[in-house]
Amino acid sequence: MSMPNILPNPAIALSAALDPFAALPPDPLVAALPKADIHLHQEWSPRLDRVLARRERRPPYDWQAWARDLMANSPPGMARLTRLSKVFPAPREADEPENFIARIEDMLCEAAADGAIFVEVRFGNDDALRPELMAIFREAERRAQAKYPALRAEAVYILVFTFEAELLERISTAALGLAREGLTGIDMLYAPYDTEADWTLAYQLAQRAADAGLGITVHAGEFSMANITAALRTPGLTRIGHAIYAAEDERLLDLLAQSGATVECCLTCNVVLGAVASYETHPIRTFVAQGIPVALCTDNPVQMCTTIGREYALAHALGFSPADLLGFTQNAIRAGFTTPARRAELLARIVIA
Ligand SMILES: [Zn+2]
Repeated sequence: MSMPNILPNPAIALSAALDPFAALPPDPLVAALPKADIHLHQEWSPRLDRVLARRERRPPYDWQAWARDLMANSPPGMARLTRLSKVFPAPREADEPENFIARIEDMLCEAAADGAIFVEVRFGNDDALRPELMAIFREAERRAQAKYPALRAEAVYILVFTFEAELLERISTAALGLAREGLTGIDMLYAPYDTEADWTLAYQLAQRAADAGLGITVHAGEFSMANITAALRTPGLTRIGHAIYAAEDERLLDLLAQSGATVECCLTCNVVLGAVASYETHPIRTFVAQGIPVALCTDNPVQMCTTIGREYALAHALGFSPADLLGFTQNAIRAGFTTPARRAELLARIVIA
């Protein structure tokens, strides 16, 4: 990978801060880059609403109005996070298998249309209890590949520790069992999230997941420094979602760099939920300067009103060159939860001049 351009972009330094929902002027060089998105939640209802709206020729739910209201009326941090995924414009009963396939296909095609060649979809809730989950996912991947043959997609499962213990155990066991059907990784979001948590259960689950051959990532350091050290001790961990607050403390930054973990950076999500005050103050540049591998990701793109193409354009506006952006794609694929054969095939398609 070439040396990243870590100097501030003078065009940005001289202008006002970027609006959280800024539409960036298209740049053909950035648009043409192969991309990857390895932190992407399924957003079942917002995504399904988008699919149904297109089919019914009506406008989808106005997420930009929702997100602007979120920023105006809820303080940054947990207060905003707890409002995420609480609006259901499409009802649960509409999420039957054909629509389920259609909404996953929509996610994959949206990313592929922006140049993504590798996408990880994060399932969750009680999806693991659906016996057909992986078959449905592969059908969606096949349909997306009919339009975008270069695309490769994998399924990851997020275990949320706010679930009652018995349900969490049932879902975890089912999710880990999906490794036999092609699930490639797990993500954990423990509770409490922004103050120090007890990681005993997380470590046990991670060990079981690692034994099942699954990759492991966790959400940590999004709104405080709490849990970053504990997260980095997770058995089998190779990635971390957000890690924003690691940049606030030299010791944490060193720990993160030494761990070799790839940081899943979600610029728009971090601004909208208030993990950072602005795009310009996002610590992505600090991570890169420390040699920490960074990947660009969308997190919850429907609710956050972004796409993977826009995240790359944002990073470019913040001063990263096309070669740096290609390096982010390479980092994402190297750290991607996929088979060795797919990883080799994907990496061979990335050539950094
Ligand atoms: Zn996330």
